[in-house]
Amino acid sequence: MERLKNRVALVTGGSRGIGAAIVERLAEEGADVAINYASDRSKHQAAELMEKVKKLGGQAMIVQADVGKKLEVDQMIEKVEAELGDIEILVNNAGINPFVPFLKLDEETWDRTYHTNVKSIFLTTQAVAKKMIEKQYGKIVNITSTASLMVVSPVVPHYISSKAAAHQLTKALAIELGKYNINVNAVGPSTIDTDMCTEYLADPEIYKKEVAANPMKRLGTTRQIGDAVVFLASEEAMQVNGHLLMVDGGLTVKAAQPDDHLDR
Ligand code: NAP
Repeated sequence: MERLKNRVALVTGGSRGIGAAIVERLAEEGADVAINYASDRSKHQAAELMEKVKKLGGQAMIVQADVGKKLEVDQMIEKVEAELGDIEILVNNAGINPFVPFLKLDEETWDRTYHTNVKSIFLTTQAVAKKMIEKQYGKIVNITSTASLMVVSPVVPHYISSKAAAHQLTKALAIELGKYNINVNAVGPSTIDTDMCTEYLADPEIYKKEVAANPMKRLGTTRQIGDAVVFLASEEAMQVNGHLLMVDGGLTVKAAQPDDHLDR
Protein backbone atom coordinates (compact mmCIF):
# COMPACT_ATOMS: atom_id res chain seq x y z
CA MET A 1 0.00 0.00 0.00
CA GLU A 2 1.18 3.52 -0.71
CA ARG A 3 -0.93 5.60 1.65
CA LEU A 4 1.59 8.44 1.79
CA LYS A 5 2.59 8.64 -1.88
CA ASN A 6 4.79 11.69 -2.56
CA ARG A 7 4.20 13.20 0.88
CA VAL A 8 7.30 14.89 2.31
CA ALA A 9 8.25 13.73 5.80
CA LEU A 10 10.92 14.70 8.31
CA VAL A 11 11.85 12.26 11.07
CA THR A 12 14.02 13.67 13.84
CA GLY A 13 16.50 11.18 15.32
CA GLY A 14 15.84 9.00 12.28
CA SER A 15 19.29 7.44 12.05
CA ARG A 16 18.72 4.43 14.30
CA GLY A 17 16.34 2.67 16.68
CA ILE A 18 12.67 3.64 16.60
CA GLY A 19 13.33 6.61 14.30
CA ALA A 20 14.94 4.40 11.65
CA ALA A 21 11.93 2.05 11.68
CA ILE A 22 9.61 5.05 11.30
CA VAL A 23 11.66 6.24 8.31
CA GLU A 24 11.36 2.80 6.69
CA ARG A 25 7.62 2.53 7.24
CA LEU A 26 6.97 6.03 5.86
CA ALA A 27 9.10 5.21 2.82
CA GLU A 28 7.29 1.90 2.27
CA GLU A 29 4.07 3.91 2.13
CA GLY A 30 5.51 6.10 -0.62
CA ALA A 31 6.72 9.15 1.32
CA ASP A 32 9.90 11.09 0.57
CA VAL A 33 11.83 11.21 3.83
CA ALA A 34 14.40 13.51 5.41
CA ILE A 35 16.42 11.68 8.07
CA ASN A 36 17.72 13.86 10.88
CA TYR A 37 20.57 12.84 13.17
CA ALA A 38 22.72 14.72 15.66
CA SER A 39 26.12 13.12 16.18
CA ASP A 40 28.89 12.39 13.66
CA ARG A 41 28.89 8.74 14.72
CA SER A 42 25.34 8.36 13.34
CA LYS A 43 26.10 9.83 9.92
CA HIS A 44 27.03 6.47 8.42
CA GLN A 45 23.82 4.78 9.68
CA ALA A 46 21.74 7.69 8.41
CA ALA A 47 23.42 7.51 5.00
CA GLU A 48 22.82 3.74 4.74
CA LEU A 49 19.17 4.25 5.60
CA MET A 50 18.92 6.98 2.96
CA GLU A 51 20.09 4.48 0.32
CA LYS A 52 17.51 1.96 1.54
CA VAL A 53 14.73 4.55 1.17
CA LYS A 54 15.88 5.41 -2.34
CA LYS A 55 15.74 1.73 -3.27
CA LEU A 56 12.10 1.73 -2.15
CA GLY A 57 11.52 4.34 -4.87
CA GLY A 58 11.22 7.50 -2.80
CA GLN A 59 13.47 10.52 -2.43
CA ALA A 60 15.56 10.78 0.71
CA MET A 61 18.14 13.01 2.34
CA ILE A 62 20.07 13.15 5.58
CA VAL A 63 20.35 16.28 7.67
CA GLN A 64 22.47 16.85 10.76
CA ALA A 65 21.02 19.09 13.46
CA ASP A 66 20.66 19.22 17.21
CA VAL A 67 16.88 19.51 17.56
CA GLY A 68 17.25 21.30 20.89
CA LYS A 69 18.84 24.35 19.19
CA LYS A 70 16.71 26.87 17.29
CA LEU A 71 19.33 27.93 14.75
CA GLU A 72 20.10 24.31 13.80
CA VAL A 73 16.39 23.44 13.59
CA ASP A 74 15.64 26.43 11.34
CA GLN A 75 18.58 25.56 9.06
CA MET A 76 17.45 21.90 8.95
CA ILE A 77 13.91 22.84 7.91
CA GLU A 78 15.24 25.21 5.22
CA LYS A 79 17.48 22.47 3.80
CA VAL A 80 14.65 19.91 3.72
CA GLU A 81 12.25 22.35 2.07
CA ALA A 82 14.87 23.26 -0.53
CA GLU A 83 15.66 19.63 -1.40
CA LEU A 84 12.40 17.71 -0.93
CA GLY A 85 9.70 20.40 -0.78
CA ASP A 86 7.40 21.60 2.00
CA ILE A 87 7.22 19.27 4.98
CA GLU A 88 3.78 17.68 5.30
CA ILE A 89 4.59 15.03 7.92
CA LEU A 90 6.75 15.86 10.92
CA VAL A 91 7.74 13.09 13.31
CA ASN A 92 9.34 14.35 16.52
CA ASN A 93 11.15 11.18 17.53
CA ALA A 94 14.57 12.36 18.73
CA GLY A 95 14.97 11.74 22.41
CA ILE A 96 17.47 10.89 25.10
CA ASN A 97 17.17 9.07 28.38
CA PRO A 98 20.34 9.49 30.44
CA PHE A 99 20.04 6.78 33.09
CA VAL A 100 21.19 8.96 36.00
CA PRO A 101 19.55 8.52 39.42
CA PHE A 102 17.88 11.68 40.76
CA LEU A 103 20.38 12.41 43.55
CA LYS A 104 23.29 12.29 41.09
CA LEU A 105 21.57 14.31 38.38
CA ASP A 106 23.32 17.52 37.33
CA GLU A 107 21.84 20.64 35.76
CA GLU A 108 23.44 20.05 32.36
CA THR A 109 21.81 16.60 32.04
CA TRP A 110 18.42 17.97 33.13
CA ASP A 111 18.62 20.78 30.53
CA ARG A 112 19.86 18.49 27.74
CA THR A 113 17.00 16.06 28.40
CA TYR A 114 14.37 18.80 28.28
CA HIS A 115 15.94 20.46 25.22
CA THR A 116 15.99 17.20 23.28
CA ASN A 117 12.67 15.74 24.45
CA VAL A 118 10.45 18.84 24.84
CA LYS A 119 11.91 22.09 23.50
CA SER A 120 12.63 20.31 20.20
CA ILE A 121 8.89 19.79 19.64
CA PHE A 122 8.26 23.52 20.10
CA LEU A 123 11.11 24.46 17.75
CA THR A 124 10.38 22.02 14.91
CA THR A 125 6.61 22.45 15.04
CA GLN A 126 6.82 26.23 14.97
CA ALA A 127 9.27 26.06 12.08
CA VAL A 128 7.07 23.81 9.89
CA ALA A 129 3.71 25.25 10.94
CA LYS A 130 3.87 28.34 8.69
CA LYS A 131 3.96 26.31 5.46
CA MET A 132 1.47 23.77 6.83
CA ILE A 133 -0.97 26.60 7.60
CA GLU A 134 -0.50 28.04 4.09
CA LYS A 135 -1.32 24.63 2.64
CA GLN A 136 -4.04 23.87 5.22
CA TYR A 137 -2.47 20.43 5.63
CA GLY A 138 -0.13 18.83 8.12
CA LYS A 139 0.48 15.73 10.22
CA ILE A 140 2.62 15.97 13.33
CA VAL A 141 3.41 12.89 15.40
CA ASN A 142 5.40 13.10 18.61
CA ILE A 143 7.03 9.99 20.06
CA THR A 144 6.29 10.13 23.76
CA SER A 145 6.29 7.11 26.09
CA THR A 146 4.52 5.08 28.74
CA ALA A 147 6.52 7.47 30.94
CA SER A 148 4.14 10.23 29.78
CA LEU A 149 1.43 8.57 31.88
CA MET A 150 3.16 6.62 34.64
CA VAL A 151 6.37 6.42 36.65
CA VAL A 152 8.19 3.67 34.77
CA SER A 153 11.36 1.76 35.61
CA PRO A 154 14.10 2.74 35.90
CA VAL A 155 12.95 5.82 37.81
CA VAL A 156 14.59 8.71 35.96
CA PRO A 157 12.56 11.80 36.91
CA HIS A 158 14.10 14.09 34.27
CA TYR A 159 13.09 11.70 31.45
CA ILE A 160 9.68 10.78 32.87
CA SER A 161 8.67 14.40 33.47
CA SER A 162 9.95 15.45 30.03
CA LYS A 163 7.77 12.80 28.37
CA ALA A 164 4.74 13.95 30.38
CA ALA A 165 5.45 17.48 29.16
CA ALA A 166 5.71 16.23 25.56
CA HIS A 167 2.31 14.62 25.95
CA GLN A 168 0.63 17.80 27.20
CA LEU A 169 2.42 19.82 24.53
CA THR A 170 0.94 17.44 21.93
CA LYS A 171 -2.56 18.12 23.23
CA ALA A 172 -2.08 21.91 23.39
CA LEU A 173 -0.69 22.01 19.83
CA ALA A 174 -3.56 19.83 18.61
CA ILE A 175 -6.02 22.48 19.82
CA GLU A 176 -3.90 25.35 18.51
CA LEU A 177 -3.30 23.91 15.02
CA GLY A 178 -6.40 21.78 14.39
CA LYS A 179 -8.28 24.67 12.79
CA TYR A 180 -5.68 24.70 10.00
CA ASN A 181 -6.26 21.01 9.21
CA ILE A 182 -3.06 20.07 11.03
CA ASN A 183 -3.37 16.91 13.14
CA VAL A 184 -1.06 16.68 16.15
CA ASN A 185 -0.87 13.31 17.89
CA ALA A 186 1.56 11.20 19.87
CA VAL A 187 2.63 7.56 19.96
CA GLY A 188 3.62 6.12 23.34
CA PRO A 189 5.87 3.05 23.25
CA SER A 190 6.72 0.83 26.18
CA THR A 191 10.25 -0.58 26.51
CA ILE A 192 11.83 -1.48 23.17
CA ASP A 193 15.26 -3.00 22.76
CA THR A 194 17.14 -0.13 21.09
CA ASP A 195 20.49 1.54 21.90
CA MET A 196 18.60 3.64 24.47
CA CYS A 197 17.88 0.54 26.55
CA THR A 198 20.83 -1.75 25.73
CA GLU A 199 22.56 -1.24 29.06
CA TYR A 200 19.34 -1.54 31.07
CA LEU A 201 18.11 -4.66 29.27
CA ALA A 202 21.53 -6.33 29.34
CA ASP A 203 20.71 -7.61 32.83
CA PRO A 204 18.77 -10.86 32.14
CA GLU A 205 16.76 -10.45 35.36
CA ILE A 206 15.58 -7.00 34.31
CA TYR A 207 14.77 -8.24 30.81
CA LYS A 208 12.70 -11.08 32.28
CA LYS A 209 10.85 -8.71 34.63
CA GLU A 210 10.13 -6.24 31.82
CA VAL A 211 8.55 -9.03 29.77
CA ALA A 212 6.63 -10.37 32.77
CA ALA A 213 5.29 -6.90 33.69
CA ASN A 214 3.81 -6.39 30.21
CA PRO A 215 0.26 -7.76 29.79
CA MET A 216 1.24 -9.14 26.35
CA LYS A 217 4.27 -10.91 27.90
CA ARG A 218 6.66 -9.48 25.33
CA LEU A 219 8.49 -6.27 24.49
CA GLY A 220 7.34 -4.11 21.62
CA THR A 221 9.23 -3.66 18.35
CA THR A 222 10.44 -0.58 16.51
CA ARG A 223 8.34 -1.52 13.47
CA GLN A 224 5.14 -1.48 15.54
CA ILE A 225 5.86 2.16 16.35
CA GLY A 226 6.41 2.84 12.64
CA ASP A 227 3.01 1.26 11.91
CA ALA A 228 1.29 3.54 14.43
CA VAL A 229 3.01 6.61 12.98
CA VAL A 230 1.90 5.65 9.46
CA PHE A 231 -1.69 5.38 10.66
CA LEU A 232 -1.60 8.80 12.32
CA ALA A 233 0.05 10.34 9.24
CA SER A 234 -2.55 8.85 6.90
CA GLU A 235 -6.00 10.06 5.85
CA GLU A 236 -7.50 7.17 7.84
CA ALA A 237 -6.68 9.23 10.94
CA MET A 238 -7.91 12.58 9.62
CA GLN A 239 -10.27 13.06 12.59
CA VAL A 240 -7.77 11.83 15.19
CA ASN A 241 -6.28 14.87 16.93
CA GLY A 242 -4.63 15.37 20.33
CA HIS A 243 -4.53 11.61 20.90
CA LEU A 244 -1.84 9.60 22.66
CA LEU A 245 -1.81 6.23 20.91
CA MET A 246 -0.22 3.83 23.36
CA VAL A 247 1.69 0.98 21.70
CA ASP A 248 2.54 -0.64 25.00
CA GLY A 249 0.82 -4.02 25.18
CA GLY A 250 -1.61 -2.57 27.72
CA LEU A 251 1.07 -1.68 30.27
CA THR A 252 -0.41 1.71 31.13
CA VAL A 253 -3.88 0.32 31.84
CA LYS A 254 -2.53 -2.31 34.23
CA ALA A 255 -2.62 -1.75 37.98
CA ALA A 256 0.91 -1.49 39.43
CA GLN A 257 2.31 -4.67 40.96
CA PRO A 258 4.50 -4.62 44.10
CA ASP A 259 7.69 -5.46 42.19
CA ASP A 260 7.05 -3.26 39.14
CA HIS A 261 9.73 -0.76 40.15
CA LEU A 262 13.08 -2.37 39.76
CA ASP A 263 15.70 -0.98 42.11
CA ARG A 264 19.09 -0.59 40.51
P1 NAP B 1 17.96 5.68 20.35
O1 NAP B 1 18.10 4.31 19.78
O2 NAP B 1 18.89 6.11 21.43
O3 NAP B 1 17.98 6.73 19.15
C1 NAP B 1 17.83 8.09 19.44
C2 NAP B 1 17.81 8.90 18.18
O4 NAP B 1 17.64 10.27 18.55
C3 NAP B 1 19.10 8.81 17.41
O5 NAP B 1 18.84 8.86 16.03
C4 NAP B 1 19.84 10.07 17.84
O6 NAP B 1 20.75 10.58 16.87
C5 NAP B 1 18.69 11.04 17.98
N1 NAP B 1 19.02 12.19 18.82
C6 NAP B 1 19.42 12.21 20.11
N2 NAP B 1 19.64 13.48 20.52
C7 NAP B 1 19.36 14.27 19.44
C8 NAP B 1 19.40 15.67 19.21
N3 NAP B 1 19.75 16.53 20.17
N4 NAP B 1 19.08 16.12 17.97
C9 NAP B 1 18.72 15.26 16.98
N5 NAP B 1 18.68 13.93 17.13
C10 NAP B 1 18.99 13.45 18.36
O7 NAP B 1 16.49 5.85 20.96
P2 NAP B 1 15.11 5.11 20.63
O8 NAP B 1 14.92 4.04 21.61
O9 NAP B 1 15.04 4.83 19.18
O10 NAP B 1 14.11 6.28 21.02
C11 NAP B 1 13.42 7.08 20.05
C12 NAP B 1 12.30 7.82 20.76
O11 NAP B 1 11.41 6.86 21.35
C13 NAP B 1 12.76 8.72 21.90
O12 NAP B 1 12.00 9.90 21.91
C14 NAP B 1 12.48 7.88 23.14
O13 NAP B 1 12.31 8.67 24.27
C15 NAP B 1 11.21 7.18 22.71
N6 NAP B 1 10.95 5.95 23.47
C16 NAP B 1 11.83 4.91 23.47
C17 NAP B 1 11.54 3.76 24.19
C18 NAP B 1 12.48 2.57 24.24
O14 NAP B 1 12.27 1.70 25.09
N7 NAP B 1 13.47 2.47 23.37
C19 NAP B 1 10.35 3.68 24.93
C20 NAP B 1 9.47 4.76 24.92
C21 NAP B 1 9.77 5.89 24.17
P3 NAP B 1 22.35 10.41 17.09
O15 NAP B 1 22.59 8.96 16.82
O16 NAP B 1 22.93 11.32 16.11
O17 NAP B 1 22.61 10.77 18.53
